[in-house]
Amino acid sequence: MKTLTCLSLPCLAALLLAFVALSAEESDSQRLVVLTFDDSVASHATFVAPLLQKYGFGATFFITEGFEFAVDKKHYMTWEQIKALNDAGFEIGNHTRKHTAVTKQTPEQIRADVEYIEQQCAKHDIPRPTSFCYPGYQTSETAVKVLRERGYRFARAGGAAAYDPTQDAPLTLPQAFDSKPDCTLEQFKAAVAGAREGKVAVMTFHGVPDIQHPWVNTDPEKFESYLAYLKEAGCKVIAMRDLAKLVE
Ligand SMILES: [Zn+2]
Repeated sequence: MKTLTCLSLPCLAALLLAFVALSAEESDSQRLVVLTFDDSVASHATFVAPLLQKYGFGATFFITEGFEFAVDKKHYMTWEQIKALNDAGFEIGNHTRKHTAVTKQTPEQIRADVEYIEQQCAKHDIPRPTSFCYPGYQTSETAVKVLRERGYRFARAGGAAAYDPTQDAPLTLPQAFDSKPDCTLEQFKAAVAGAREGKVAVMTFHGVPDIQHPWVNTDPEKFESYLAYLKEAGCKVIAMRDLAKLVE
């Protein structure tokens, strides 16, 4: 009977409250962050991926053969490098063959450009992509239809908000942060802070650095400070495809 006295009703209630508070704190600190990297930039393979591996973070690389992909192998990845990203556990997503805005294309053109990247993936023994990224952030209903038909689960558009799975359509989900040369760690932290109450912060990066497209460049040192913050804040950092099992 003596042991039971310590488990009196107020005592149990206090324990329960402490447990609830702890869980709330835990779930709050476990912010969900998706890292995405656009445009097949060479620095994704040479700098970004090894650093992400060091941190144990997942990520999605959105591949296009647009820009000078075919001829400039100094600044754009080879398919062998893309395959190596896949083999290292990262997700390879589809960013279309030519990086043309889907709003300027017919359904047939969209289908062909999406299918081309799927075929290139198949050719290089990379799983068929289920994540997509709209070139130039522009979405269209036609493109959403094509993506749905082809089995895509998630597609990233533009914007500046956390993805709310209860409100936002998965095939036009918003980015929370779009890394530009002037962005600050404080802005990055603010975007991470939006990942609460079931919402997910989806971050957009281009090259780190991005020599050919300086207007979307991310300074490598600044990038390291972003990753260090994610680690310090205890975020769960994943690829876009991983949302499938987490947001349902
Ligand atoms: Zn792009």
